[in-house]
Order: sequence, then C-alpha cells, then structure tokens
Amino acid sequence: MTDVRAAARDAAARIAACEAKGTHAFLAWSEAALLAQAEAVAASPAAGAGALSGEVVAVKDVIADATFPTTCGSRILEGWRSPFEATAVRRLREAGALVAGKTACDEFAMGSSTEWCAFGPARNPVDPSRVPGGSSGGSAAAVAAGAVTMALGSETGGSVRQPAAFCGVVGIKPTYGRVSRYGLVAFGSSLDQIGTFGRDVTSAARLLAAISGRDDRDGTTLDRIPLGEPGPVAASLAGTVIGVPREYFPEGLHAGVHAATRRALERLKDLGAEIRGVSLPHTKYAVPTYYIVAPAEASSNLARYDGVRYGLRDGGASDVRAMYRATRGRGFGAEVRRRILLGTYVLSAGYYDAYYRKAQRVRELIRADFARVFAAGVHALFTPTTPTPAFKFGENLADPIAMYLSDVYVCTANLAWVPALSLPIGRDQGLPIGGQLIGAMEGEGTIVRIAQALEHSLDATAEVR
Ligand code: GLN
Repeated sequence: MTDVRAAARDAAARIAACEAKGTHAFLAWSEAALLAQAEAVAASPAAGAGALSGEVVAVKDVIADATFPTTCGSRILEGWRSPFEATAVRRLREAGALVAGKTACDEFAMGSSTEWCAFGPARNPVDPSRVPGGSSGGSAAAVAAGAVTMALGSETGGSVRQPAAFCGVVGIKPTYGRVSRYGLVAFGSSLDQIGTFGRDVTSAARLLAAISGRDDRDGTTLDRIPLGEPGPVAASLAGTVIGVPREYFPEGLHAGVHAATRRALERLKDLGAEIRGVSLPHTKYAVPTYYIVAPAEASSNLARYDGVRYGLRDGGASDVRAMYRATRGRGFGAEVRRRILLGTYVLSAGYYDAYYRKAQRVRELIRADFARVFAAGVHALFTPTTPTPAFKFGENLADPIAMYLSDVYVCTANLAWVPALSLPIGRDQGLPIGGQLIGAMEGEGTIVRIAQALEHSLDATAEVR
C-alpha cells in the first residue's frame, strides 16, 4: 500500500514549486487539506485499498467539492462553497485519491486559453509566454508542471483535449453519459462531460475508470457495464482499422502539426493497424453549430445566477430587476455576457427556427457522419487535436472567432457524443503537438488501447521537422 501521508506531503511540495514559478494552475489548494485527506484515507481500509489510493488529483473549478470554494473562474461565484460534492469527486475520494485543489479555468468553462478566468490565467509550463489552452487549462498545466499526475477537467467543446494538446499531456473526453454530471456546473447540458488528464494514457484512463458509471443523480448516465481499468500496452494493432478523415487535414495545415500527425500515422501502420481514408462531410459546420447550441444552452443554464440563489448580490439596487441587472453586470465577464447574448438571440421568437432548430438538424448530420464511418468497420479516427500549437497570451483575445476556431477539430465529438482523447505526438520548436483519437459510442476501451500502443512507440518530446 502506498504511504498516503508521504504522497500528500510530496504533492504539496510539487504544487508549491509549480505555483512559485508563476504557473497559476491553481485557484485554491492547501497542504493542510491534503494532509487531512491523507489521514482520512489512512483511517479507511476501503479507501486505503482503493484503485487510486494515494493518488493526488487536481480538480477544475467548475466541479463541486466540499473542501474548497467552487468559483467557476467567475466573480459571480467568488468564494462560493458548494453544500454538496460532485459524484466524480466522491468516487475519486472513495477510490482513495486526495483532492489537491481547484484549478484555473475560463469563466464558466467558456474559452480556449484560461484568459477569461476572472482570477487570472494559468501559464503553459512548457513556455510561460503561451496559454495552456482552455477552458481546463489549469488542470492541464498542473499535470504538465508535474504538480500532480492526474486531474479532472470538463468538456463542452474540447476543453480537456485542447489544453492537453497545448501542454503535452493526455486528455480524455468520455462518451456522453459515461460520467455523472451531478456537481458539474452546467454550461451546455447536452454537451457537457467531465474528462480526465494524465501524464500518460494509462493514468488518464485509470482516473476515468474510477469516476465513470451509472449515477441515480444524473438521469443521462449510461446504464452499462462500467469502464474497466486499462490493460497492458498492446504490442500489435493488427486487425485495427484507423480512419483518417480528410476534412481534418486541410490544405495549408500548420507544417509542424502536419509532420507530427504524419509521423504518428506511420507508427500506427508499423504497429499493424490498417489506415483508411474516410470522409466526415459535415465537419465544416461543426464550429458554427457548436457556437449556436452551446450558447443557447448556456443562456438558459446561467439564468440561475441572479443574486438571489448563489454567490454575488449587488445590494445597492432599488428593486429586484435592477438588482438582477447590477449583479449579473458586475459578476459576469465579457465572454460570458457575449455567450448569454448570443444564446438568448438564437432562442428568441423569430430566430429560433433560423438558428437553433437549424443547428440541431446540422448536429444530427454531424452525428450521422460519425455513425456511418464506424458502422463501415472503422475502429477509431485519427486527427490533429488542434490546428496549431499553443498560442501566445493576447493573440486571440480581441477576436472571438479566431479563439473559437481553435476548437475546430475537438467540438465535433461533443456534438456527436462520442469519446475522444488527445495524446502528445511530438514537438515543433519546443511546443507540444497533440494527436486525437475519436472512438465510436462507448468505444473508450478501443481508443485507450490504440493510444497506449502509439504512446509506447513514439518519442513525444522529439522535434517533428
Ligand atoms: N472553447 C470552447 C468554448 O469556449 C469549449 C469550452 C468547453 O469545452 N468547456 O465554448
């Protein structure tokens, strides 16, 4: 059995070192909380023997836990403490893990860089002049900096895979319904899933296995055989068909991203996999579809922050409507306000059919593209995770569309509900590049198996050109 107390002390030292470098991966953490949890695990035979006994896990600050505030990176929830704990957090505690603290994220998980975090962005440990990606950038940075070996993030449209790619770590977005959303602060409920980060494929998959499964508190969870622990690394991928969707490799793709994905595909072939060109023709509509569906759901979900039920209240107002306005005006940042405006617009009478209903139809076509390819015998798809490596602070901040386009390869899986993961596949001028494996519904086991074999056969820190 691991020495849980020693693990807690070591983790505290590593987190302190990470934060002393200015990474700002964490919005809240404490050595005392880590040590107290270690005592609790040491006193519990069940937790002590759990699958994650002594593992220290960082948690994105949109996931409720009982130890630290849950702020969602927003002024409107500054200092807010959840009266309950997310199912995913409860499960990792029951498995013997310790919660290290809460990580920096874009406000309400809206963003791709952590620059929209109201309490300051996290920095990319590989190059502090660059963003760690987002919205789960703090979790990715915490793993990349070596502060923790595992972390929880959340995905609505790529917020685990994109920062995993930018920071050179592994990120998994499970099938919709694989992990309970109970205690995950809602953004786009038909898209949201808790995802996992790991230093390697196996650690991210172990964390996912521990938190997944049916939960009576979330009626959308899958009532299936729970995900098992990942197996040993497969020596061969013979019999595995990997589809390469041409829409993800456009003319003019970033040369480093192109070189890294080509090299990874060669390795997959060397491992015995069959590489097959495929087409997902509705891919070009994914970003516009996502940026209608997600803000629509967000505008509804964020109506609850009204100064009455949670967090901040502007007390200076003369009547209740003025209080709502003042509270929301002060509490929400620019990107959240933009999403609420967009979402309210596409749901409003007269525009609903033109935008929201149309987007729902296109979403179905995107889902059908994936279903067709998997039904034709493809086991997984391989693509770049992002069109470029990590960008610099400020580069995309003034242009929301440019920021949104960094989700072009990741938001499809959320729209289609399928699982996907990102793993490091090489570096370009020192910057990590991520490769993405997308699976069929409930195909986490398959993409994890392929990713483990690829990871094993590839030096992900090598320059690719
Ligand atoms: N970057 C996307 C957005 O801003 C995705 C966010 C997410 O997955 N939570 O909406």
